[in-house]
Amino acid sequence: MIDGGHSAADITIFEAESVPGGLCRSKTVDGFTYDVSGGHILYSKDKPAMQWMKDRAGGDAAFVEKDRHTRIRFGQRWVNYPFENGLGDLPPEANFDCLSGYVRAWHERSKSQSTAPAEFGKWVRWRFGDGIAEHFMDPYNKKVWKRELDFLTSDWVAGRVPDAPVDDVLRSAVGIRTEGYTHQSKFYYPKNGGFQAITDGIAAGLSVDMRLGTPVGEIQKKGTTWNINGESFDFVVSTLSLTYMPDLVAEMPREVAEACRKLEYNGIVCVMLALDRAQHPDLSWIYLPHASQGPANRITYMSNYSPNMAPTGKSSFLCEVTVAGGKPFPGRALEKELIDGLANAGLIRRDEVLFDDREQIGQAYVVFDHAYADRRKIALDWFEAQGLVQLGRFGRFEYDNSDQCVIKSRELAQRLLKKSRVGA
Ligand SMILES: Cc1cc2nc3c(=O)[nH]c(=O)nc-3n(C[C@H](O)[C@H](O)[C@H](O)COP(=O)(O)OP(=O)(O)OC[C@H]3O[C@@H](n4cnc5c(N)ncnc54)[C@H](O)[C@@H]3O)c2cc1C
Repeated sequence: MIDGGHSAADITIFEAESVPGGLCRSKTVDGFTYDVSGGHILYSKDKPAMQWMKDRAGGDAAFVEKDRHTRIRFGQRWVNYPFENGLGDLPPEANFDCLSGYVRAWHERSKSQSTAPAEFGKWVRWRFGDGIAEHFMDPYNKKVWKRELDFLTSDWVAGRVPDAPVDDVLRSAVGIRTEGYTHQSKFYYPKNGGFQAITDGIAAGLSVDMRLGTPVGEIQKKGTTWNINGESFDFVVSTLSLTYMPDLVAEMPREVAEACRKLEYNGIVCVMLALDRAQHPDLSWIYLPHASQGPANRITYMSNYSPNMAPTGKSSFLCEVTVAGGKPFPGRALEKELIDGLANAGLIRRDEVLFDDREQIGQAYVVFDHAYADRRKIALDWFEAQGLVQLGRFGRFEYDNSDQCVIKSRELAQRLLKKSRVGA
């Protein structure tokens, strides 16, 4: 009995796929395991939430604790991350361009007391200067977002990119090591089974009516109750993407349906390269800003996350390639372009690749364009007024990691239990 006369068995979960886990799923092929929507790590500022997630999957002993080591690949060099803390790793000309641009931008901001531009592309130059924009921020962000950078708002970076003190940037440019943001300096990863071990553990602990392979095809309000696929429920929480809802929810007003449909997002293709190589440098993941490095924007050293991610004596890379929302996924030529790019960047030899494996994810990143906030508000206000609760990364169109989804789900559960206790 959970409360208010309801038991957990009264809860039904509809899951379209044959396994739970969503974006947190992992896959094992011939002994190589990878996270299907890009390398996932467990980290949260909310320690109890993180512990809760670990405990669902066997507790501390079932996890590897790792130091986060990330780099940017620049030509044949490794550059410290964040880029402005790694200028001393650049070739001298690029270092000069970046430093001079950074100081000019800093001086200009201080002199004019200008406010941050709303367009992301302009914001990059206002904040970092022309050198860093040209050598890193512009090419990297174009690879990730697949749009002109001014199409995006600068709001989404507010609070995510701390302002590096100018002295730190000067120090780094002359070769004195400085650290950028360190909030993820340690992270956790399941010893076995990839990140999905966490969602598997959560699912295994539920005593609810879990219907796998059962897509929701229809959501209809009937007085104070809801019909899902023709079955009646008192209350509905949806983690389905807002963009799917106009096709599922009966009688949605036109402007709400339009707001949902026009929300922008990116998909992702993840290609795992199984490598005949015993080990990699001690890196977690790397950023590949340049076109000559191939189409991937990020490579995760999956086999560094846990020794069980690849067979003994072998290792793996996970290549992430974003796709503008709704556009077709690239064909088989992609794998060749990826391997050529990585070989060109000096990261692999072609003859090391044992095989590749690919997964395609329709919605991976929320894209923060200038109409995002208004569209999202129209959609969420309407769902709230209907009493249909939206939750999750695409359920609320937020840049939430799995820990945030857990935190928000637990808060919602507490609110619902309290409400049922007072009989409201
Ligand atoms: C590239 C990338 C890297 C990330 N890195 C990290 C990281 O390092 N650490 C971290 O904690 N998080 C990370 N995340 C975020 C994490 O994956 C998400 O926050 C989390 O998985 C979102 O969970 P969710 O339940 O909101 O949505 P989802 O995982 O998208 O789940 C939605 C579920 O709904 C199901 N569904 C869809 N349509 C229907 C339907 N019609 N009927 C029934 N079911 C349906 C889907 O099959 C899916 O299982 C990353 C995400 C991406 C894309």
